[in-house]
Amino acid sequence: MAKKIGCSCQNFESIDGFYSLNEFENFRNHFKKKLEDGVVLEIPVKKKYGGFEEHWYQCAGCDEKWRLVYPDFPFKGIWGKVPEGDDKAVMEKL
Ligand SMILES: [Zn+2]
Repeated sequence: MAKKIGCSCQNFESIDGFYSLNEFENFRNHFKKKLEDGVVLEIPVKKKYGGFEEHWYQCAGCDEKWRLVYPDFPFKGIWGKVPEGDDKAVMEKL
């Protein structure tokens, strides 16, 4: 857990499943603001979590990477840190 002190990603809290589509939409709207403000940058997805729509973001202040996997019932979606291994993965291996 080596986060840079004062980095905006310190406030990111992982979400293991959104309770409702509404909650997911609220999260996305809230997150869109961060993207527009340049707090996070969208980066290419290197290894997919599953067969769901997914986007990766990197903190603008450090190299921490986060993934947003869209919910697709019964899968509830995920917002969380990209594990080191997935980050190093190569697309061709999919
Ligand atoms: Zn950061």
